[in-house]
Amino acid sequence: MFVIVRVQVARAGGRGAVAASATIVAPVTQLADASACARRYQLLHELGLEERPRGNRESGAGAAELGTLAHRLLELASLEATDGGSRREELRELLRLEGEDPYLPEHAEVIDAAAAFLESELARRMAQVEPRKLHRELPFALRLDPKPGEEPGPSVVVRGQLDALLLEDGQATVVDYKLSRAGARGRYDFQLDAYALAARTLTENAAPVRTGLVFLRTPGAPFVTRGPPGAADLDRIRRGLLNAARVLADGRRTGIWPKVQRARCGELECGFVRRCHPEEVMSEVSAP
Ligand code: SF4
Repeated sequence: MFVIVRVQVARAGGRGAVAASATIVAPVTQLADASACARRYQLLHELGLEERPRGNRESGAGAAELGTLAHRLLELASLEATDGGSRREELRELLRLEGEDPYLPEHAEVIDAAAAFLESELARRMAQVEPRKLHRELPFALRLDPKPGEEPGPSVVVRGQLDALLLEDGQATVVDYKLSRAGARGRYDFQLDAYALAARTLTENAAPVRTGLVFLRTPGAPFVTRGPPGAADLDRIRRGLLNAARVLADGRRTGIWPKVQRARCGELECGFVRRCHPEEVMSEVSAP
């Protein structure tokens, strides 16, 4: 039987940890940015700069607000099967209760995206399990400490929220909704890795944990999954989170936030490239 450990701070792999000089407390998303590029973390989270101007529906501040609304609908909406008209009316009513106008064009798209998921195979599975085996918007705080013999550095409390945790057939599945079309999945690996480690701890290592992304803007809202991490993977994930915490601690202490190479910026689809690599961008534009 699965048990979800409802504690504020669960500890993973901390036995025998060395005393640390500091503890970094940060959300998974910020640690993911720090892991990818220290400069990116600084611009977004220390300086609060916007990566892209408003108006892009899949990135930027407006997109973030729509994404939050989609998550709210999927947290609150009934999973019971119903006809399309009733489904949309329920979603419109939920938007009204959130203080939003459900008939704005961008909100109608959020309703379409939520409705597509609620009619999917994964939503049907979620509807079929006992209520205690489905957790929607499950918060966690996971403390990690460097082990003896590892590179010294701060401990970290990783904060986050699982969009859904489904417990069925001796397996745990973490579901993460993205209000975007299916695309390059590698950019979400750090986040899903952290969720897998958190879910392992929340379930007291009782079951393998699959993780997956639901792409809400792709027809049918496909659920793209990854297999459960093994013991070596879980240790790699733990060290990756501690390394990201070290990037934050070093940057705050020294004021130095190193950039990554231009090619890596492209892989990350980072919106700050003109700011960080102006000469290279200019030469790319002027190249025949
Ligand atoms: S453009 Fe490149 S160097 Fe600059 S913040 Fe983004 S990833 Fe980092």
